[in-house]
Amino acid sequence: MSADLEVGFGEGTTKFRQELLRWFDRNHRVLPWRSEPTAYRVWISEIMLQQTQVVTVIDYFLRFIEQFPDIASLAEADEEQVLRTWEGLGYYRRARQLHLAAKQINNMFGSEFPEEFQHILALPGVGRYTAGAIASIAFGQRRPILEGNTIRLFARLLDERNDIKLKPTQDRLWRFAETLVAKSRRPGDVNQALMELGNRVCRVQSPECGACAVREYCRSYAAGTQLDLPRANNKITYQSLEEVAVVIERRRRFLLRRCEPGERWAGLWDFPRFAAPKNVTVEAIAELVEREFGVQALLIDTGWSIKHAVTRYRIQLRCFVGKSGAGTASLPSHSNSKVLRWVTAAELETLPLSATGRKIAARFGDLGPILKNK
Ligand code: SF4
Repeated sequence: MSADLEVGFGEGTTKFRQELLRWFDRNHRVLPWRSEPTAYRVWISEIMLQQTQVVTVIDYFLRFIEQFPDIASLAEADEEQVLRTWEGLGYYRRARQLHLAAKQINNMFGSEFPEEFQHILALPGVGRYTAGAIASIAFGQRRPILEGNTIRLFARLLDERNDIKLKPTQDRLWRFAETLVAKSRRPGDVNQALMELGNRVCRVQSPECGACAVREYCRSYAAGTQLDLPRANNKITYQSLEEVAVVIERRRRFLLRRCEPGERWAGLWDFPRFAAPKNVTVEAIAELVEREFGVQALLIDTGWSIKHAVTRYRIQLRCFVGKSGAGTASLPSHSNSKVLRWVTAAELETLPLSATGRKIAARFGDLGPILKNK
């Protein structure tokens, strides 16, 4: 194990950086946010890339930038517009915080992205990694980064055998990252090169050591431990949930509810949804709909269901459909038009929906034939 983790590669750091940048200059991917690395574009791309693969992000990034080309346009946009543009990328909290941060920048810095590291770090949704990426890539500051790819790369380069989730290990890796950018004239490229090497060469299952530009510095390669690293105590317990979604139509409009703050998919729209056991009856669901929404509905069980995952939950979502009955001309008095709404099929297209809500809308957006055959 590395005894000199505190100093990283010492005198060899400059040479390491040169090898790394040589590889990056020849092999880096052409990505839309790299062609014009303004702070705004780097910021949007970095937030999108959290928890999401590069190939998925590219189209979303281009659409987002087209719709909101600068901080002012994002700050002035309606939250629903922002969420609709984000729809499908998941982890919607990122979009809400991006929107909030744009408003803050607009108010505090006259829509110019702040250059001061502490100001960047103070923005909603921006942690040490994202602030380091923006500061180094957009402003050329010597700020380190540490995220999934670089944690794996550094753990292997240093033959770090301690649990990477532990704070002392994380602190060591951050210090190592600092040594790599400390005297660099291209800190943004160094950081991007580290992430790209980690992602494309020092892969989780099959690191391509034979083609690795920094192999001669790699202590786990020398020790033959690279496939055992990084080590982490990842004990996640998954929980199974049974839920029911209900599509209710009235005069060619569908009942939707807006997910509230603190709920899953806060700010997005969804069909009414309930936790319900596997053997729940249509009558029981109809009762729940009436109690929660004041809407009487004749329901049928479509037999169609979706399996999906949200954080540590594995959800089986069954789908019921039906028409609302007589005496349901309006929503109950406790309802608020911002929370519940009858929407047309065209409005379903423009509102931001949960991922499962969008699948349900695609399948049951026209209930006519389904109800006729029952
Ligand atoms: Fe990763 Fe292998 Fe390169 Fe070491 S030599 S950094 S394990 S790809």
